[in-house]
Amino acid sequence: MKKPILYIVIPCYNEEEVLPLTSGMFLDKIHQLVAADKISDNSRVLFVNDGSKDKTWEIICDLAKKDEHFLGIAQSRNRGHQAAVLAGLMEAKAKCDITISIDCDGQDDIHAMDKMVDAYLDGCEVVYGVRSKRNTDTFFKRFTAEGFYKLLAAMGVEVVFNHADYRLISSRVLKEFANYKEVNLYLRGMVPLVGFKSTSVYYERHERLAGESHYPLKKMLALAFDGITSLSVKPIRMVFFAGLFIMMLSFIGIIWAVVAAFMGKSVAGWASLACIVCFMGGVQALFLGVIGEYIGKIYLEVKGRPRYIISDRTWEDEDD
Ligand code: UDP
Ligand code: MG
Repeated sequence: MKKPILYIVIPCYNEEEVLPLTSGMFLDKIHQLVAADKISDNSRVLFVNDGSKDKTWEIICDLAKKDEHFLGIAQSRNRGHQAAVLAGLMEAKAKCDITISIDCDGQDDIHAMDKMVDAYLDGCEVVYGVRSKRNTDTFFKRFTAEGFYKLLAAMGVEVVFNHADYRLISSRVLKEFANYKEVNLYLRGMVPLVGFKSTSVYYERHERLAGESHYPLKKMLALAFDGITSLSVKPIRMVFFAGLFIMMLSFIGIIWAVVAAFMGKSVAGWASLACIVCFMGGVQALFLGVIGEYIGKIYLEVKGRPRYIISDRTWEDEDD
């Protein structure tokens, strides 16, 4: 059997401190897998520069000059982690048989790649890397992240628990995945939708080797929000049922008010009225907010703007 070509896809944003440390590790991994006769020597490490403001792109270009196993593409500006991974995967899919996406900071154990490739050779088309322990994450990060997975599951979004964006995807699956055109990207929720045989491998998550996280709470919350609203319409449905429930309550309230009036028991009920008005006002504002969030998403989807724009490559493109 022909040995598969592997592309390791690595998004990089302001990573000049870690890249010199981790690039060698990725290259070694390719060499090891080639030596173990599992993948072809045409396998590559593909860096995606996500509009970094530091020397990241220069480092990538240097690496590409020194060793043919290194390739790089650059996004025309910073578009976020998800778009960077997508750009890399779409770029790689025509050139290889399997891709593995991984962060460039060395937090995810690269030795899990052996198990991923084995699973592929056994017939799996998608292999999820799952964190077995989160000891090195702060309690806060662990707590928020795990709570978020549970919330997603409750909202009916199919996700693999404790799986981030470390995964193997075959190019066969990527060709189908390319038809998922949404601009609101939440890759880890979208990949399971494509189907095909999949499995998980477990690994321990380490500390960042250098530099600092580019996922502050604000970006994490934004990703969480995108994850729910771009993959699930449950919140809108919940709004509908809550609205129905509140309508029934007000109906009872109206009957009560009319009956009380006929029985001559009505007093100057300012307090109860004020409460009801405030409550209804609040509920309506909240519901409009949820619906507005979806309309905003529809607006972005309808425009159908490109999800990524590649401005540079470390190699000459044959088509140009
Ligand atoms: N990243 C990116 N664009 C961004 C933010 C992050 O390409 O706008 C990359 C980053 O270089 C890293 C990966 O996404 O390879 C994960 O980021 P980070 O390690 O900062 O997040 P954390 O592991 O703390 O969640
Ligand atoms: Mg990280």
